[in-house]
Amino acid sequence: MRCTAYAGRVPTTTPPSSSTLPDGPSRQGLIERRDLRPDDVRIAIAYAGICHSDIHTAREGVGAGAFPDHRRPRIAGRVTQVGEDVTRYAVGDRVGVGCIVDSCTECEPCKDGMEQFCLRPSVGTYNSRNYDGEWAMGGYSQEIVVTERMVLRIPDALGLDEAAPLLCAGITTYSPLKRWGAGPGRRVGVIGVGGLGHMAVKIAAAMGAQVVTLSRSMAKAEDARALGSSQHIATSDTEAMRAARGSFDLIINTVSADIPVEDYLRLLRPLGALVNVGLPTEAYSVKPFALVGGNKVLAGSMIGGMAQTQEMLDFCAEHGLGATIETIAAAEVDAAWERVVAGDVRYRVVIDTSTISA
Ligand code: NAP
Repeated sequence: MRCTAYAGRVPTTTPPSSSTLPDGPSRQGLIERRDLRPDDVRIAIAYAGICHSDIHTAREGVGAGAFPDHRRPRIAGRVTQVGEDVTRYAVGDRVGVGCIVDSCTECEPCKDGMEQFCLRPSVGTYNSRNYDGEWAMGGYSQEIVVTERMVLRIPDALGLDEAAPLLCAGITTYSPLKRWGAGPGRRVGVIGVGGLGHMAVKIAAAMGAQVVTLSRSMAKAEDARALGSSQHIATSDTEAMRAARGSFDLIINTVSADIPVEDYLRLLRPLGALVNVGLPTEAYSVKPFALVGGNKVLAGSMIGGMAQTQEMLDFCAEHGLGATIETIAAAEVDAAWERVVAGDVRYRVVIDTSTISA
């Protein structure tokens, strides 16, 4: 075991077994990382991204059931040590880790490249125990040890800071955009211009789609255009929403709160798809006719498999699509969470882990 400094809300070196939500002030301290196994890579984390999921988990219990750890994924850094069987990575390589740190490799989803849906199931980077029963400790820290199968290569064209959020916001939007055919001749709506939303806009535009942003107000209109949106609609503007009816092939909903789903289904063309990636806690209310009339699809999407995550990183590097970030010190994590909730971040916060003191 080796200790590494962390910044988060769980103050012990051994995580508690209770599933109470420890939404108190964050602390900095030490956690243990396992000794290197033959297939393990030790990574010095340079940057760790903050996502709204961190806050859902801590405050609303989304994904709870294991251990509500607050030290999150979306990690970018450099390899500092490799196990004797590691073949893909060497000391000094620029690498990242996303939302999962292990999967069984043998089940159908794993064999199909969808490790996130591993039937064993997959091991989350946080809020999860690994197959030996150890707690995964997330990424708000200076070091992590991960099997090489779960490590991504960060292309040289991407800064480590702007790459860290791609391991979540990038893949979570790239995957449904790819699956549902965003590209030339397709009109793609993105609801919510936040961490995920801003990457959905950049990626969809780079794929060649015509992108329209749907936001609570016009406040982000200028930014949205710079990100690649051809039109920005304030969802509070009933006339603009009416005018947009029946005009989208695909809509990606990245909103962290409940939305009136039927209002957005109305915006789809026949055969169009509304794909939800946001994770609010309330159930949808959708009358069957809202889908049946127009053969519409209401779908969901969760991160992406390892091969597709690497594909996304390579795509982003090729198109110069780093996340638009604000970098903070570890002591500013709590304030950053409040800013995420207030929708005040433009557009992703990353923690400079060199500022963690333990
Ligand atoms: P974020 O940065 O806070 O962005 C969410 C955006 O939603 C805001 O910027 C805002 O956009 C809009 N919004 C917020 N509150 C709203 C409200 N009450 N009504 C309408 N719109 C509202 O969050 P994020 O980090 O991008 O995460 C977005 C969601 O995706 C979260 O629920 C998160 O848990 C989830 N997520 C899912 C996956 C997955 O695998 N499916 C992965 C990561 C995250 P405007 O200001 O433009 O209106």
